[in-house]
Amino acid sequence: MPELPEVEALALDLRGRLDGRAITKVHVAAFSALKTYDPPLGALEGTLVDDVTRHGKFLDIDASGLHLVLHLARAGWVRWRDEVPALPPKPSAKSPLAVRIVLDDGSGLDVTEAGTKKSLAMYVVRTPADVPGIARLGPDPLADEFTIEVLSEILQREGRKQLKGVLRHQGTIAGIGNAYSDELLHAARMSPFKPANSLDDEELHTLYAAVRGVLGEAVDRSRGLAASELKGEKKSHLAVHGQTGKPCPVCGDTVREVSFADSSLQYCPTCQTGGKPLADRRMSRLLK
Ligand SMILES: [Zn+2]
Repeated sequence: MPELPEVEALALDLRGRLDGRAITKVHVAAFSALKTYDPPLGALEGTLVDDVTRHGKFLDIDASGLHLVLHLARAGWVRWRDEVPALPPKPSAKSPLAVRIVLDDGSGLDVTEAGTKKSLAMYVVRTPADVPGIARLGPDPLADEFTIEVLSEILQREGRKQLKGVLRHQGTIAGIGNAYSDELLHAARMSPFKPANSLDDEELHTLYAAVRGVLGEAVDRSRGLAASELKGEKKSHLAVHGQTGKPCPVCGDTVREVSFADSSLQYCPTCQTGGKPLADRRMSRLLK
C-alpha cells in the first residue's frame, strides 16, 4: 500500500508531467471506485492541470479549480503512459484498470488496482476538504507544524492505546500506514504494543526523531523516481516490515510477526521487546 513517502513522490512525479497540460478525456473502467457525482466526472474534461499535491495518503490533481482526488488503498497504483491507446478501455472485472486520464498531447495516466478486493476510491470535488477522509485527517508528520509538542499531546490524548494503532490511524496522524509504523517503531526500538501515554521524555524524543527520520529519508530516496520505480525502492529499504523470518539488519535477531484478522505486524524482539517475542494470537490459537 502506498503511504506518505510514495504518495509524496507520486505527486512530485505527476506534477512535473501534468503541470500545464489539459485533460481531454477521463475514462472510468471501474465505476464502483467513483464516490462522488457532483461535479460530474465530465467536468474535468477541458480543464488545465495547475498542481498535483498530497493530503495524507490521498493524491490530489488540481485542475482549474476542480480536484480529482485518489485514494490508492491497498493495491492501487498509477502508471504513466507516454501514449495512451486510441480505443477507450472496456470496463472489465478482470482488468486492473480503474480510470484512464488522457491529456492534450496524447499522453496520460492509468490508475490501476490489482486483486479482487476493490477499495480504490476516487472523488471529483470543488475543494479537497469535501472528501470525508481528508476532512478527518490528523496533522501531517512532515509538516513544520508537527512539533515534538504536537506528538506529545497526541500520545497523552490517546492514553493506553497501543503505539502501533495510534501511529497509523489517519485521523490522529496523516499518512503513516502498516509498513512505516512497523519501520519507525523499529527505528525507535519500541514495542508496537507500548501504551501511547507511557513514554518518558527521552522516549518521546526518540520516537519523534524516528517519525521524522524514517519518513523524511524515505521521501528523499523516492524524490525524482518515476512511479514505476517507487515500489521496488520502498521494499528494498524495509528493515522489519514484510521481513518475517529474516535477520534484523541492526542486530541479526530473527524478525517476527503478530497476525490479526486482516493484517499483520513485524518487529525485532531484540531491538524492540527486550528479546521477548510478543504473543501471536493466531499461533497460540493453533497450538491449543
Ligand atoms: Zn534487531
